[in-house]
Amino acid sequence: MIQPELASRIAAAVDQRFEEQIETTLRFSAIPSTRGAEAPAQDMMAGLLRARGYAVDDWTIKIEDISSLPDFGPIEHDFSRARTVVGTLRPDQETGRSLILQGHCDVVPTGPLDMWQTPPFAPTIKDGWIYGRGAGDMKSGTLAALYAVDALREAGLKLKGRIHFQSVIEEESTGAGALSTLQRGYRADCALLPEPTGQQLTDVCVGVIWFRLQVRGEPVHVSHATEGSNAIKAAYRLIKALEGLEADWNKRAEADPHFGAIQHPLNFNPGIIRGGDWASSVPAWCDVDCRIAILPGWDVDACRAEITACVAQAARADSFMANRPPEVVWSGYLSHGYVLKGADEPVGMLESIHTTLTDTPLARRPGTGLNDARFYSLYYGIPAFCYGPKAEKIHGFNERVNIQSIRDTTVAIACFVAEWCGFD
Ligand code: ZN
Repeated sequence: MIQPELASRIAAAVDQRFEEQIETTLRFSAIPSTRGAEAPAQDMMAGLLRARGYAVDDWTIKIEDISSLPDFGPIEHDFSRARTVVGTLRPDQETGRSLILQGHCDVVPTGPLDMWQTPPFAPTIKDGWIYGRGAGDMKSGTLAALYAVDALREAGLKLKGRIHFQSVIEEESTGAGALSTLQRGYRADCALLPEPTGQQLTDVCVGVIWFRLQVRGEPVHVSHATEGSNAIKAAYRLIKALEGLEADWNKRAEADPHFGAIQHPLNFNPGIIRGGDWASSVPAWCDVDCRIAILPGWDVDACRAEITACVAQAARADSFMANRPPEVVWSGYLSHGYVLKGADEPVGMLESIHTTLTDTPLARRPGTGLNDARFYSLYYGIPAFCYGPKAEKIHGFNERVNIQSIRDTTVAIACFVAEWCGFD
């Protein structure tokens, strides 16, 4: 249990630099680090780490180095400049437990700008919230962890364990960034990911599969459309069939110990649609990029087989697709879900710290979205979980993160780092 006197010393150190922390968060959130454009965000992180005396490892990820690792998902975009940045703080005598603190700097696209009240990459403070794409998911959390470690130093604590501060990319599409740190050899006794959990603990999350439906049609002049076959309308029918699979999977989820109480935890989403070439030509092609969630414990390959079978069955009922079956292409995440096990010690520590600081018990929030903790927990024996600030509308318009929760999270993470790694 953390001593209240120590907790308030740490909190005072956080408060002392909190204004600077928020300024840094605004600067970091102003970088439009969507997929493939993360370099300036990684430059900034590397700079922040160097300025604090971390030993910085900044490398370009090679797909061939990670493609054989578990839960690797296909990468289709230009990956030649993809980087990972890890800063390491090593005590002179390493006698305490080590810790990975990890944040992702990739953010999802903004959607139509006219739907934002303030521009997504001009982060704005209003009524105690920071508005901006990525401010919540998860740049404020990443910097909370960075300033948490700073606060310990300023409070005069010398950590006894090693810290790897990891800034990764690709969290939003494959998890390749987190995977690259493991491939590079980074390990620790525990990993904390300050994703925006609303100061709840996420130690359970679904898996996710991304795939693309590639549908073909028969183009004819629309004036005699019945002689052709419309690929866009055919894609509708496949989407309908996959909604059936989604309903089926959610039915199965009702018996799940973690997700049974959650309404519709496994969401299928046709997220991108492209097709056709001309308004007066029956479209010859349609591509639909999809995402579907799976329960922890479900096997990705078995689920892929179910997806393929569902699409094939729907195609057989269609006169054109029966002869030209659509293809299913795996286009990103191929990730198992996870349930954190064997982590009573770090979780108990976080519970106790959270309760001491907030006077409320630590609530759990099973993730119906994915996070990078899975790699550590499932395949590398490193207990990993998420705990971070309170954000709203992530992936939506007017994404925002609560400033008080950033401050409280920073204090909680700092206390956790101190207790976990030990200090002199
Ligand atoms: Zn995130």
